[in-house]
Amino acid sequence: MTYIRFKGMSFFKQVRTEEAARALVWKTKFEGKEFVCPNCKSEKYWEFTCEPEIRKCQGCSKHVRLRTGTMFENSKISMLNWTRAIYFTMSSKRGISALELQRRLELGSYHTALGLLKKIRHSLLQRDSKYQLSDSIELDGTSFGRAKNLNQQEVMVAIETKSWIDAKGNEKTKAGFAKVIVANETRENAEKFISKNIKPGSSINTDAAQAFIRSQVKGIDLDYREMDSKQEKINDWLPWVHRFISNAKSWIIGTHHGVRAKYLELYLAEYTYRFNRRHDPDSLFHRAISAMSQADPMTLGRLTA
Ligand SMILES: [Zn+2]
Repeated sequence: MTYIRFKGMSFFKQVRTEEAARALVWKTKFEGKEFVCPNCKSEKYWEFTCEPEIRKCQGCSKHVRLRTGTMFENSKISMLNWTRAIYFTMSSKRGISALELQRRLELGSYHTALGLLKKIRHSLLQRDSKYQLSDSIELDGTSFGRAKNLNQQEVMVAIETKSWIDAKGNEKTKAGFAKVIVANETRENAEKFISKNIKPGSSINTDAAQAFIRSQVKGIDLDYREMDSKQEKINDWLPWVHRFISNAKSWIIGTHHGVRAKYLELYLAEYTYRFNRRHDPDSLFHRAISAMSQADPMTLGRLTA
């Protein structure tokens, strides 16, 4: 699928009405086409002037609703506000807080802004859960938040590393995709995390934490070294996972001023999603709309959006 890229302020010039926002989401829903009937695959459709969020298939008469089967389902928010929310979230390098989003969209309620962000993050989480890491992986555990106010959460992070040779013939590594789970660092959780997210045949570098030493997953080669606080050792054995963890922590504090434990997973999903596409930041907006258009709908509980 090719992505429409909005450079600079062009998004606000091109998508300034509900009609334009709707057209953008219709196109994203059908992966670049105006219409594809989920029933009979016909690409011909009728529109209704009074019901612009419904298209009727000319092949089999099926009514296809814009929001049905997407993360926009059951939402009362206009498509214009939805596309703007996604744009604000994905176009700013460090993301956006709910308070800032509420201000920019001029929303009456903070809970609506939180609800929008929650649905966006859920879509990103769903999208990234489709991928698995392979080959060489660094794995480590850490904790986010402060123990003293009972807000601490254990987190495991796995990240692919790729080797390459620089111009002087030295072997270097660079980071590939990352995966994160918020879960206590136990053997059971580590094994579940590894078998779900890492392809058989891969090899993992990790530290000598009990949960990792005792983990056994079929087809995965797990090698560990004792880590102390010596930077040299860490740089040699687990450089990328350590960098990822420390950058994720500053992001949570910098953009969001700390996060309640129960929301940590979703915030880290957004961080990881950005990290995984860091080499192509212009594509983030379209990839996120696409993730929302393909995501399973969710309901919000107390929040609204
Ligand atoms: Zn049809």
